[in-house]
Amino acid sequence: MSQKNWNLEPSLESAALLKLQDQYELFIDGKWQAPLSKKYFDSINPSDESKLAKIAWANEADTDVAVKAARTAYENVWSKLSGAQRGKYLFRIARLMQEQAKELAILETLDGGKPIRESRDVDIPLACNHFFYYAGWADKLQEAFAGQQISSLGVAAQITPWNFPLLMLAWKVAPALACGNTVVLKPAETTSLTALKFAEICQQAGLPAGVVNIVTGYGDTGAALVAHTDIDKIAFTGSTAVGKQIQKACLGTSKKLTLELGGKSANIILEDAPIDQAVEGVINAIFFNQGHVCCAGSRLYVQESIAAQVLAKLKFRLQSIYVGNPLDKNTDIGAINSKKQLETIERYIKLGIAEGGQIYQPTCELPSKGYYCKPTLFTDVAQSATIAQEEIFGPVLTIQTFRTMEEVIQKANNSPYGLAAGVWTDKGSRIFGLSQQLRAGVVWANTYNKFDPASPFGGYKESGFGREGGRHGLSAYLKFSN
Ligand code: NAD
Repeated sequence: MSQKNWNLEPSLESAALLKLQDQYELFIDGKWQAPLSKKYFDSINPSDESKLAKIAWANEADTDVAVKAARTAYENVWSKLSGAQRGKYLFRIARLMQEQAKELAILETLDGGKPIRESRDVDIPLACNHFFYYAGWADKLQEAFAGQQISSLGVAAQITPWNFPLLMLAWKVAPALACGNTVVLKPAETTSLTALKFAEICQQAGLPAGVVNIVTGYGDTGAALVAHTDIDKIAFTGSTAVGKQIQKACLGTSKKLTLELGGKSANIILEDAPIDQAVEGVINAIFFNQGHVCCAGSRLYVQESIAAQVLAKLKFRLQSIYVGNPLDKNTDIGAINSKKQLETIERYIKLGIAEGGQIYQPTCELPSKGYYCKPTLFTDVAQSATIAQEEIFGPVLTIQTFRTMEEVIQKANNSPYGLAAGVWTDKGSRIFGLSQQLRAGVVWANTYNKFDPASPFGGYKESGFGREGGRHGLSAYLKFSN
């Protein structure tokens, strides 16, 4: 029996609304096309290991057909439309996504394993809002870049990860189309279904054929897209290792590149912070979405004088966390996205223990089928420990203490990454001081994991370069001639 300090009755969201097909083809030139590769792969539901659908696996020849369709649509249709006309299509897509939000949320949860509460309240509304936001910019690009000569780039190849499938699509597709480009998108192999549903929405919106093309497959499909010679822009979100390979593949070409890569973000609690609020913030920062968040606050630094109190409260709070069926509205931590990712997380947990860390996990029971991991805390962690340095991408938090501001700045910046950070304190001056010295693309103060389409997002160092979101997100899809 699980020994929670809080119990709720199950509250399951029904998946009966979904109309899943047994098999999905590639979405090219406005139509569903069987892959020239003749290959398919299975998409698995990580919460119970059942098969959801068979999905086309595009090869080099398939990506070539998709790029040609995108080029033709760019030259003949999309680049000839006014910004206002492009905006109308984007508004239409945004509204259709909103109308089908429930279906999209259930699909995201089934395919990716994230709690329905998150898909419903975070992923899908934010994805819709990105389309609304960039629809508004489509006819105001010249105002956004006053005095500069701007034009679209052409065909954009966009490659996305599995942690926020539809949201990452929206971050990329919405600004690209608003700026007058056409796209070929390659979603992650474990979470392609909402991208394929998005293709249906493009059809419903009457989007001209070839403006959005979706080629599904594994890393080889992404690599073929990157290598294609008729691509003008590559936007990649994923691991630092693959980002480096893409950067090398682009050397000596004129392809414009943005990379949104991994992170190992520091969350800092100062002794004057509101402690209960900070503890809840820490839970949200690392256990939200099973820790499958690029900017997850996976390294916690607590000022020494309050460390014991914070640790006791964190342990008590974890005892009430719900780990289990992602379709249950009570669930806080759903399923790990894939067997491979679960094995990676388990390997890091073993390594953390082997390197001398003290582990704490709550006593909750995990479902017998599916890929699940208990929320995990590590104390007694050295700054040089592997689990404090490498991105785990799972619900694992390292906790270290500090005495002075100088010490915590040095520790927080001692990372190859620089994506995000959090600061918990009562004093505005400390927030300003720390946020100027932390080398991170985003610094949240007395909150964490807050996103808005109007706000740019991106990293320093090995977390990548370029910004997505906001007005900055437009410039990644424009050519500047003066
Ligand atoms: P991944 O790099 O394994 O895969 C990302 C995408 O790249 C997938 O679609 C994959 O099929 C494709 N791919 C794999 N090999 C490729 C290759 N050689 N050439 C081209 N494409 C290839 O990453 P993942 O495991 O899907 O995602 C997790 C990673 O994404 C984490 O490191 C996380 O931090 C990062 N991420 C970053 C941000 C950000 O905004 N900085 C946002 C979300 C996720």
